[in-house]
Amino acid sequence: MKPPDSRNNKCFALVWREWYVFGPGLLFVVSGPSGAGKDTLVDALRARMPRLRYSVSATTREARPGEREGEHYFFLARAEFERRRASRGFLEWREYNGNFYGTPRDFVERTLTQGYDLIMKPEVNGALSIKGTFPDAVLIFLLPDRFSHLRARLLARRTETNEEIARRLAIAHEEVKFIRSFDYIVINEERRSEEAVRDLHSILQAEKFRIHRFSDDSLRKMEDS
Ligand code: 5GP
Repeated sequence: MKPPDSRNNKCFALVWREWYVFGPGLLFVVSGPSGAGKDTLVDALRARMPRLRYSVSATTREARPGEREGEHYFFLARAEFERRRASRGFLEWREYNGNFYGTPRDFVERTLTQGYDLIMKPEVNGALSIKGTFPDAVLIFLLPDRFSHLRARLLARRTETNEEIARRLAIAHEEVKFIRSFDYIVINEERRSEEAVRDLHSILQAEKFRIHRFSDDSLRKMEDS
Protein backbone atom coordinates (compact mmCIF):
# COMPACT_ATOMS: atom_id res chain seq x y z
CA MET A 1 0.00 0.00 0.00
CA LYS A 2 1.34 3.41 -0.94
CA PRO A 3 1.69 5.83 1.98
CA PRO A 4 0.19 9.29 1.52
CA ASP A 5 2.24 12.20 0.27
CA SER A 6 2.41 14.56 3.20
CA ARG A 7 4.38 17.46 1.77
CA ASN A 8 1.50 19.91 1.69
CA ASN A 9 -0.56 18.42 4.45
CA LYS A 10 -1.29 20.60 7.44
CA CYS A 11 -2.02 17.62 9.62
CA PHE A 12 1.61 16.61 9.79
CA ALA A 13 1.62 14.37 12.84
CA LEU A 14 -1.27 12.32 11.62
CA VAL A 15 0.33 11.67 8.29
CA TRP A 16 3.61 10.55 9.80
CA ARG A 17 1.58 8.27 11.95
CA GLU A 18 0.07 6.74 8.83
CA TRP A 19 3.51 6.19 7.42
CA TYR A 20 4.26 4.21 10.45
CA VAL A 21 1.02 2.24 10.39
CA PHE A 22 1.69 1.09 6.82
CA GLY A 23 4.88 -0.70 7.86
CA PRO A 24 5.04 -4.40 8.79
CA GLY A 25 3.38 -5.37 12.05
CA LEU A 26 5.21 -5.95 15.32
CA LEU A 27 5.53 -9.35 16.89
CA PHE A 28 5.04 -9.67 20.67
CA VAL A 29 5.88 -12.90 22.43
CA VAL A 30 4.56 -13.41 25.96
CA SER A 31 6.21 -16.37 27.62
CA GLY A 32 6.97 -17.68 31.09
CA PRO A 33 6.02 -20.67 33.19
CA SER A 34 2.72 -22.48 33.04
CA GLY A 35 0.44 -20.92 35.68
CA ALA A 36 2.00 -17.44 35.41
CA GLY A 37 -1.25 -16.16 33.90
CA LYS A 38 -0.35 -15.86 30.20
CA ASP A 39 -3.81 -16.85 28.98
CA THR A 40 -5.77 -14.49 31.24
CA LEU A 41 -3.48 -11.51 30.69
CA VAL A 42 -3.23 -11.91 26.93
CA ASP A 43 -7.03 -12.23 26.70
CA ALA A 44 -7.44 -9.02 28.71
CA LEU A 45 -4.83 -7.27 26.59
CA ARG A 46 -6.58 -8.28 23.37
CA ALA A 47 -9.84 -6.87 24.73
CA ARG A 48 -8.03 -3.54 25.16
CA MET A 49 -6.33 -3.64 21.78
CA PRO A 50 -8.84 -4.88 19.21
CA ARG A 51 -6.44 -4.47 16.26
CA LEU A 52 -3.93 -6.80 17.88
CA ARG A 53 -3.99 -10.22 16.20
CA TYR A 54 -3.38 -13.46 18.05
CA SER A 55 -1.50 -16.49 16.77
CA VAL A 56 -3.45 -19.65 17.61
CA SER A 57 -1.05 -22.55 18.18
CA ALA A 58 -1.49 -26.16 17.20
CA THR A 59 -1.24 -28.88 19.82
CA THR A 60 -1.60 -32.62 20.21
CA ARG A 61 -2.90 -32.38 23.75
CA GLU A 62 -6.55 -33.05 24.57
CA ALA A 63 -8.84 -30.03 24.68
CA ARG A 64 -9.74 -28.97 28.21
CA PRO A 65 -13.37 -28.30 29.06
CA GLY A 66 -14.38 -24.99 27.49
CA GLU A 67 -11.51 -24.91 24.97
CA ARG A 68 -12.62 -24.42 21.39
CA GLU A 69 -11.00 -25.56 18.15
CA GLY A 70 -9.38 -22.66 16.29
CA GLU A 71 -9.84 -20.27 19.19
CA HIS A 72 -7.69 -21.67 21.97
CA TYR A 73 -5.74 -24.13 19.84
CA PHE A 74 -5.91 -26.17 16.68
CA PHE A 75 -6.18 -29.63 18.21
CA LEU A 76 -4.35 -32.10 15.99
CA ALA A 77 -3.72 -35.82 16.05
CA ARG A 78 -0.04 -36.62 16.45
CA ALA A 79 0.29 -37.89 12.87
CA GLU A 80 -1.23 -34.70 11.47
CA PHE A 81 1.06 -32.57 13.62
CA GLU A 82 4.06 -34.53 12.37
CA ARG A 83 2.91 -34.17 8.77
CA ARG A 84 2.65 -30.38 9.11
CA ARG A 85 5.95 -30.21 10.92
CA ALA A 86 7.63 -32.15 8.11
CA SER A 87 6.21 -29.76 5.50
CA ARG A 88 7.60 -26.76 7.44
CA GLY A 89 4.13 -25.71 8.51
CA PHE A 90 5.41 -24.48 11.89
CA LEU A 91 7.69 -21.56 12.62
CA GLU A 92 8.76 -23.40 15.74
CA TRP A 93 7.49 -26.39 17.66
CA ARG A 94 8.25 -28.04 21.00
CA GLU A 95 7.38 -31.10 22.97
CA TYR A 96 6.07 -29.93 26.31
CA ASN A 97 5.03 -32.37 29.00
CA GLY A 98 4.52 -35.19 26.50
CA ASN A 99 2.55 -33.19 23.92
CA PHE A 100 3.53 -31.24 20.82
CA TYR A 101 2.89 -27.52 20.45
CA GLY A 102 3.65 -25.47 17.35
CA THR A 103 3.22 -21.99 15.89
CA PRO A 104 1.60 -22.12 12.42
CA ARG A 105 3.92 -20.34 9.98
CA ASP A 106 1.52 -18.99 7.32
CA PHE A 107 -0.72 -17.00 9.64
CA VAL A 108 2.19 -15.28 11.37
CA GLU A 109 3.98 -14.33 8.16
CA ARG A 110 0.83 -13.15 6.43
CA THR A 111 -0.44 -11.12 9.40
CA LEU A 112 2.85 -9.29 9.94
CA THR A 113 3.20 -8.56 6.22
CA GLN A 114 -0.30 -7.09 6.21
CA GLY A 115 0.86 -4.64 8.89
CA TYR A 116 -1.01 -6.07 11.87
CA ASP A 117 0.66 -6.39 15.24
CA LEU A 118 0.60 -9.94 16.48
CA ILE A 119 0.87 -11.58 19.88
CA MET A 120 1.62 -15.21 20.77
CA LYS A 121 2.32 -17.11 23.98
CA PRO A 122 4.66 -20.08 23.50
CA GLU A 123 6.74 -21.65 26.26
CA VAL A 124 10.25 -20.28 26.76
CA ASN A 125 12.22 -22.34 24.21
CA GLY A 126 9.63 -21.53 21.58
CA ALA A 127 9.91 -17.83 22.43
CA LEU A 128 13.68 -17.93 21.99
CA SER A 129 13.40 -19.73 18.70
CA ILE A 130 10.90 -17.10 17.46
CA LYS A 131 13.46 -14.43 18.37
CA GLY A 132 16.00 -16.30 16.24
CA THR A 133 13.68 -16.10 13.24
CA PHE A 134 12.35 -12.60 13.96
CA PRO A 135 15.14 -10.68 15.73
CA ASP A 136 12.81 -7.67 16.01
CA ALA A 137 10.24 -9.61 18.04
CA VAL A 138 9.62 -8.24 21.54
CA LEU A 139 10.00 -10.94 24.18
CA ILE A 140 8.16 -10.50 27.47
CA PHE A 141 8.70 -12.85 30.39
CA LEU A 142 5.70 -13.18 32.66
CA LEU A 143 6.22 -14.24 36.27
CA PRO A 144 4.06 -14.53 39.36
CA ASP A 145 5.18 -12.47 42.38
CA ARG A 146 5.99 -15.72 44.18
CA PHE A 147 6.99 -19.03 42.70
CA SER A 148 4.63 -20.81 45.09
CA HIS A 149 1.72 -19.07 43.36
CA LEU A 150 2.36 -21.13 40.26
CA ARG A 151 1.45 -24.30 42.07
CA ALA A 152 -1.59 -22.68 43.66
CA ARG A 153 -2.84 -21.46 40.28
CA LEU A 154 -2.29 -24.79 38.57
CA LEU A 155 -4.14 -26.53 41.40
CA ALA A 156 -6.98 -24.01 41.28
CA ARG A 157 -7.71 -24.50 37.60
CA ARG A 158 -8.21 -28.24 38.17
CA THR A 159 -7.18 -29.25 34.66
CA GLU A 160 -4.04 -31.24 35.46
CA THR A 161 -3.30 -34.22 37.67
CA ASN A 162 -0.86 -33.82 40.58
CA GLU A 163 1.87 -35.53 38.54
CA GLU A 164 1.30 -33.15 35.62
CA ILE A 165 1.45 -30.17 37.96
CA ALA A 166 4.72 -31.44 39.41
CA ARG A 167 6.17 -31.78 35.91
CA ARG A 168 4.99 -28.29 34.92
CA LEU A 169 6.65 -26.85 38.03
CA ALA A 170 9.90 -28.66 37.27
CA ILE A 171 9.79 -27.20 33.73
CA ALA A 172 9.08 -23.75 35.23
CA HIS A 173 12.31 -23.91 37.27
CA GLU A 174 14.24 -24.56 34.06
CA GLU A 175 12.40 -21.84 32.15
CA VAL A 176 13.32 -18.99 34.50
CA LYS A 177 16.99 -19.65 33.77
CA PHE A 178 16.44 -18.05 30.36
CA ILE A 179 15.03 -14.82 31.72
CA ARG A 180 18.03 -12.71 30.66
CA SER A 181 17.36 -13.46 27.01
CA PHE A 182 14.07 -11.58 27.20
CA ASP A 183 13.43 -7.88 26.58
CA TYR A 184 10.95 -7.27 29.41
CA ILE A 185 9.77 -8.83 32.66
CA VAL A 186 6.19 -8.38 33.83
CA ILE A 187 5.16 -9.52 37.28
CA ASN A 188 1.62 -10.77 37.56
CA GLU A 189 0.88 -10.07 41.20
CA GLU A 190 -1.78 -12.06 42.95
CA ARG A 191 -5.16 -10.27 42.79
CA ARG A 192 -3.63 -7.38 40.83
CA SER A 193 -3.72 -8.78 37.35
CA GLU A 194 -5.15 -5.53 35.95
CA GLU A 195 -1.80 -3.90 36.77
CA ALA A 196 0.05 -6.56 34.81
CA VAL A 197 -2.31 -5.98 31.87
CA ARG A 198 -1.57 -2.26 32.09
CA ASP A 199 2.17 -3.00 32.12
CA LEU A 200 1.86 -5.21 29.04
CA HIS A 201 -0.17 -2.52 27.33
CA SER A 202 2.50 0.13 28.08
CA ILE A 203 5.23 -2.09 26.65
CA LEU A 204 3.30 -2.70 23.44
CA GLN A 205 2.50 0.98 23.04
CA ALA A 206 6.06 2.17 23.66
CA GLU A 207 7.55 -0.43 21.32
CA LYS A 208 5.48 0.91 18.44
CA PHE A 209 7.20 4.29 18.63
CA ARG A 210 10.82 3.18 18.81
CA ILE A 211 12.95 4.94 16.24
CA HIS A 212 14.16 1.74 14.63
CA ARG A 213 10.56 0.74 13.84
CA PHE A 214 10.38 3.53 11.27
CA SER A 215 11.71 2.73 7.83
CA ASP A 216 14.80 4.54 6.68
CA ASP A 217 12.72 5.99 3.89
CA SER A 218 10.13 7.50 6.23
CA LEU A 219 12.82 8.89 8.56
CA ARG A 220 14.53 10.54 5.60
CA LYS A 221 11.26 12.12 4.53
CA MET A 222 10.81 13.53 8.02
CA GLU A 223 14.35 14.90 7.96
CA ASP A 224 13.79 16.49 4.57
CA SER A 225 10.44 18.02 5.37
P1 5GP B 1 -1.01 -25.62 27.91
O1 5GP B 1 -1.06 -27.10 27.78
O2 5GP B 1 -1.02 -25.17 29.36
O3 5GP B 1 -2.05 -24.92 27.08
O4 5GP B 1 0.40 -25.15 27.31
C1 5GP B 1 1.59 -25.71 27.79
C2 5GP B 1 2.74 -24.80 27.41
O5 5GP B 1 2.89 -24.79 26.00
C3 5GP B 1 2.50 -23.35 27.84
O6 5GP B 1 3.70 -22.85 28.43
C4 5GP B 1 2.21 -22.66 26.55
O7 5GP B 1 2.62 -21.30 26.59
C5 5GP B 1 3.05 -23.46 25.58
N1 5GP B 1 2.64 -23.31 24.19
C6 5GP B 1 1.42 -23.06 23.68
N2 5GP B 1 1.47 -22.97 22.35
C7 5GP B 1 2.76 -23.11 22.00
C8 5GP B 1 3.46 -23.08 20.74
O8 5GP B 1 2.92 -22.89 19.66
N3 5GP B 1 4.80 -23.28 20.78
C9 5GP B 1 5.47 -23.49 21.94
N4 5GP B 1 6.79 -23.65 21.87
N5 5GP B 1 4.85 -23.52 23.13
C10 5GP B 1 3.51 -23.35 23.17
